[in-house]
Amino acid sequence: EGKFYQFMMRTKQPAGLVSNKLYLTMDDLANTHGNGTLRLTTRQTYQLHGILKQDLKQTFRTVIQNMGSTLGACGDINRNVTAAPCPDKKNPSYEIAQTLALDIAELLAPQSGAYYDVWLDGEQVMTVEKPEITKARMDNSNGTNFEGSQEPIYGSLFLPRKFKIGVTVPGDNHIDFLSNDIGICVVNDAGGKHVGYNVYAGGGMGRSHRNNETFPRIASPIGYVDKDDIFYAVKAIVCTQRDYGRRDDRKQSRLKYLVHSWGVEKFTSVTEQYFGKKFQPIAPLPEFEFKSYLGWNDQGDGKLWYGVHVQNGRLRGELKKALRLVIERYELPVRLTAQQDLLLCDVDPKWKDDIHQTLKNAGLKDLDDIEPNDQLSMACPALPLCGLAITEAERGLPDINKRLREVMETVGLTKSDDIMIRMTGCPNGCARPYMAELGFVGDGPNSYQIWLGGTRNLTGIARAYEDKVKVDDLETFFEPIFAYWKQNRNSGEEFGQFVNRVSFEEMKAFSGSYVPG
Ligand code: SF4
Repeated sequence: EGKFYQFMMRTKQPAGLVSNKLYLTMDDLANTHGNGTLRLTTRQTYQLHGILKQDLKQTFRTVIQNMGSTLGACGDINRNVTAAPCPDKKNPSYEIAQTLALDIAELLAPQSGAYYDVWLDGEQVMTVEKPEITKARMDNSNGTNFEGSQEPIYGSLFLPRKFKIGVTVPGDNHIDFLSNDIGICVVNDAGGKHVGYNVYAGGGMGRSHRNNETFPRIASPIGYVDKDDIFYAVKAIVCTQRDYGRRDDRKQSRLKYLVHSWGVEKFTSVTEQYFGKKFQPIAPLPEFEFKSYLGWNDQGDGKLWYGVHVQNGRLRGELKKALRLVIERYELPVRLTAQQDLLLCDVDPKWKDDIHQTLKNAGLKDLDDIEPNDQLSMACPALPLCGLAITEAERGLPDINKRLREVMETVGLTKSDDIMIRMTGCPNGCARPYMAELGFVGDGPNSYQIWLGGTRNLTGIARAYEDKVKVDDLETFFEPIFAYWKQNRNSGEEFGQFVNRVSFEEMKAFSGSYVPG
C-alpha cells in the first residue's frame, strides 16, 4: 500500500464575503474531501483540513467553479484582504471598506494563467475587472512596473515574503487593522461624505523565539490619501517592499523590518517616489473600539443579521449541520469575521425564530450564556494540523479558559470582568496573540510564553512577561496577577489598560509575595 498524503486548502475571501452557493459548496467539501469540519480563520477565510492528494484537483476545481478562489491564499504575494465585515447598511463606510478590499485583491492578484492551467486544465473563469483597477495595475509612469512581464507588479520574483492588507472604518477595529503590512481606514469629511483613506504600513505578527531581531510590530501612520489615489498608494508601498524588502533572510523579509530599519520618514519618502505624490497628514479619527458583531442585529434595510459565535473557528457536528440547514433553507449569504465567527446575513425578520430555534436545538448558546472570555478569545489550529506547532492551541484553549475563569472568580472578579485571550501553538502568531490583553505563545511541550499588555481596541502591542509557563501551573501563575488587577484597578479599568499602567516589575513583586486566598 502507498502512503496517503494529506493537505490543507485555504481559500481567499476578501472582506470575508461568502455567497450562499460557496458556503454550501465548502460545507459539502468538508464532508466529502476534508475531515468533516470547516475552519474559519483569523483572516476571514476557510481552511479545509485533511484533503488527500488524490482529491486535491477535484477539490480546487469545485471551489473555483462555485465562485470561490484560493489564488494568493498562500505564498510570497498579497494574501486575503481583510475588511470590517459588518453588514450594517446604516453606516455606509462598511460597504466602502468591503468594496475596497475586493478591489485591492483584484489589483494585486497574480495575472498569470498558471493557476487555471493547474487546477482547471487551462479553462478560464470569467472575471469582471474594473477599468480603474487595470489602469492602476498597468500604469508604469513612475517606473513601478516590470515592462513586458506577465506580472506587471510582481515581476518574476514576486514579493520577498507574504503581504497582508486590512481595511477598516472609523471607530471599528474588529479586524486588527494595524497588524497588517498595510492598514487602511476609510476617512469621511465632517458631513459624513467619503473623501479618502488613512494609510498605515509595517505591521506584522510573526517572530521567532530566542531571536530578538524578530518582533511583532503595529503599522505606523504613513499619511492620508484622497480616495482616487488609494490604488496608487497601495501599489507604491507594495513596490517599495518588492524592491527594498530583504530577500537574503526570510526572517527579516516582512515589510515591518524595512519600515523599522529605515524609519517612517525614509520609508514614506521612498514610497512617495513610486506614488508620484506626497502623502498628506493623517486625518483625525475617533477612538477605535473592538466590535464583535455577534447576536441579532438590525441591518438597517429591513433585514437582520445574526452573528454566530464559533469556538476557535472550528465548525463541526450538530452546529455545522444546523447552520447548513438554515443557510440553505433561506438562501442566506454569509460573512466570515476576523474573530473566527460567522454572520448570517439578509435575514427576513419572519425567519428569525426558526433560525434561532434550529441553531439552539443544535447546541448554539445565546450570547448571554457564552462565557465572556470565550466570546473574545481566539486560537490558531496548531496541533495536530499545523507543522510549525510546538504545542496545543485550538484544542487547549477551551479548557484553559474555563480554568482561568475559575481563578478569576477565586480572586473576586465577576463575569463582567472579561479579558481578550489569544493563543497560538508557535511564535508565528496566526491568531495575533501579541495584540491581545493576554497572549499565550507556545514555547515548548505544554508550555507557553505569556504576553501581557495588548489593549481591547487592538491598537498596541503586548510585551513578553514570562517564558515557559507550564499548562499545569496556570492557576498558581495567574492567581496573583488577577488578584493584583482586582485589588489595584481603577474603576472599570480593563485588564490590558491596567497592565500598561502598572509595571511588570510591580506585578512580579506582587506575585512573589502573594499568599493564595
Ligand atoms: Fe501554526 Fe504557528 Fe500559525 Fe499556530 S501560529 S497555525 S502553530 S504557524
